[in-house]
Amino acid sequence: VTLTPDHTGPSAGGESTAAGEGTDVLSRPLRLVLLGGPGVGKGTQAELLMDRLGMYHLSTGDMFRAIGAKPPETLTPVMQQAIELISGGRLVPDETVIELVRHHLEEQDMGRGILFDGFPRTVPQAEALDRMLEALGAPLDAVLDYELEEEKLIERLSGRRTCLQCGASFHVLNLPPKNEGICDHCGSPLIQRTDDRPATVLVRLQTYHRKTCPLIDFYRGSGRLIPVTADGAPTTIAQRSIEALRRHLGG
Ligand code: AMP
Repeated sequence: VTLTPDHTGPSAGGESTAAGEGTDVLSRPLRLVLLGGPGVGKGTQAELLMDRLGMYHLSTGDMFRAIGAKPPETLTPVMQQAIELISGGRLVPDETVIELVRHHLEEQDMGRGILFDGFPRTVPQAEALDRMLEALGAPLDAVLDYELEEEKLIERLSGRRTCLQCGASFHVLNLPPKNEGICDHCGSPLIQRTDDRPATVLVRLQTYHRKTCPLIDFYRGSGRLIPVTADGAPTTIAQRSIEALRRHLGG
């Protein structure tokens, strides 16, 4: 892993320093976590923030979906178990996820900054992430916690359609693709994720409350939590995130 402190993101050309004074705090390589319930739109926000800040996007859910798309007989027993847990709406064991992330961080050029989406999801994972980033000399800057009422989470999850090929997300009502059932970006068919089906959605919400909500206190306690209201259009939420980040980081 290389850490280059002099990275400037694509939005660092002055456009984001509206007042024009000094360097934008968002132009340095940031390490951020996106937190929030299933269906809150972390993946969509990750794409928008990545475009804006130019950082690398690490989604453990996308990694597992890529692994799950391979022939089952080629998977290790640990990964086969992970794929089964995911389709039941349960969390993959901490050791498995932490190893996967550790492996990716070792290969990653951290000079661009990094956005963790869907990781960590438990307190032990958050502690492991702190240790891994400390060892790289690149501690976590902030955690954007997306807040939305549970009924809206359910509505978003049940209408979500995902591209198996490129991972892009759409919504049958709120963000329909130009051609029904077809990905706008790569033209592949859209599917409903098995874990977005109603029975599994309820398990995921329970798991979120039990295992992931404690992370809110964990990060608040260390002064790294930035609450963001996740209501509204994706671009509005992304803009809200950018402003909240700038305030938090002191820009
Ligand atoms: P996501 O796309 O982030 O909603 O992740 C899809 C599913 O992958 C989750 O419901 C979990 O079953 C599994 N998963 C993803 N990230 C993690 C994690 N950090 N810890 C445990 N399980 C995870």
